[in-house]
Amino acid sequence: MEKTNLKGLNLTQLENFFEKIGEKKFRATQMFLWIYNKKAKSFDEMTNLSKKTKTKLDEFAFIENIELVEVKIDEISKTHKFLFRLADGRKIESVLLYDGKRKTICVSSQVGCAVDCKFCATGKMGLLRNLTLSEILDQIIVISRDFETEITNIVFMGMGEPFHNYNNVIESAKILCDPQAFSISQRKITISTSGVLPKIQKFIEEEHNFKLAISLNATDNLTRTALMPLNEKWQIETIFAEIQKYNKTNRNRVTLEYVLLAGINDTDEDAKKLAKWIKDYNCKINVIPYNPTNTDFERPTKERIEKFMAVLGKATPSATLRNTGGRQIQAACGQLATTN
Ligand code: SAH
Ligand code: SF4
Repeated sequence: MEKTNLKGLNLTQLENFFEKIGEKKFRATQMFLWIYNKKAKSFDEMTNLSKKTKTKLDEFAFIENIELVEVKIDEISKTHKFLFRLADGRKIESVLLYDGKRKTICVSSQVGCAVDCKFCATGKMGLLRNLTLSEILDQIIVISRDFETEITNIVFMGMGEPFHNYNNVIESAKILCDPQAFSISQRKITISTSGVLPKIQKFIEEEHNFKLAISLNATDNLTRTALMPLNEKWQIETIFAEIQKYNKTNRNRVTLEYVLLAGINDTDEDAKKLAKWIKDYNCKINVIPYNPTNTDFERPTKERIEKFMAVLGKATPSATLRNTGGRQIQAACGQLATTN
């Protein structure tokens, strides 16, 4: 029997595992608590297991741990950026953000990304592979065990397109909100997608209460396709049709992200068009001024950003500016990339 990594299994899967190796069912709950609540790295740390059980576990199972390689801290915002090495040597990054009482972990879902948005450093890497459920959860386990215990929010906005790794992302979110595990409220877990339509549909059909964010980034299809090639397949109108369905079944507002790029989508006219798009839907806009990556795009001036927000704000009350810290340490939106 091949050894099973117990990290990444939910309670039912753990119960099946313990049944298979001839152990009592309650061991599953014990293990679930050790891994996700007490954040144990090995069976040796699990003090309520007998020597016999530990020996048996060593024979059939293991607990995989990702390795923290480097931490960079932005002195002004306190933003932390973490570099992790995975079991196969691939590397990913995660970010810890402080904003008042909010302590948010921005997690990665893939090594690289296939969507190839022209303004994003992760997109430049191409897709190397999906993260396993264990690797997704371990980012939160390590950060909350060794750096910040009181995590309040999780955003799937690190490296990768979460809806290209749909099952692992949803399963991890379920474990994150489990009261016996991380106990993070469903509404404090946000999944951001570039607009993978079939998976947006699935997400709506499955009636999840995690928050949904969609990266709109442009108000016309020509511009959006030039920035995000996937728009050729799934255009702006089809995204809004899904938002309409979502609004009918879910009270949560959809967040639309809008990367502000100088000379591309940042005029007063663009702001008005954006407000017009959302006026009939229950959604809000989160404007993210471009963070420098190795591309030719530019961040609009402070004055342009302010004017854009003023025009947008006049037309819609639901627009906010995301000015995350960490640009100096390449930890802001779109700046995550690793050499693998
Ligand atoms: N792949 C998902 C989630 C990760 S990216 C998605 O695209 O939605 C999180 C947000 O950062 C997205 O809204 C994306 O449009 C934005 N982003 C990407 N590159 C950026 C950059 N260089 N500057 C500012 N925002 C960026
Ligand atoms: Fe992938 Fe999101 Fe970057 Fe686009 S913005 S390349 S979807 S990580």
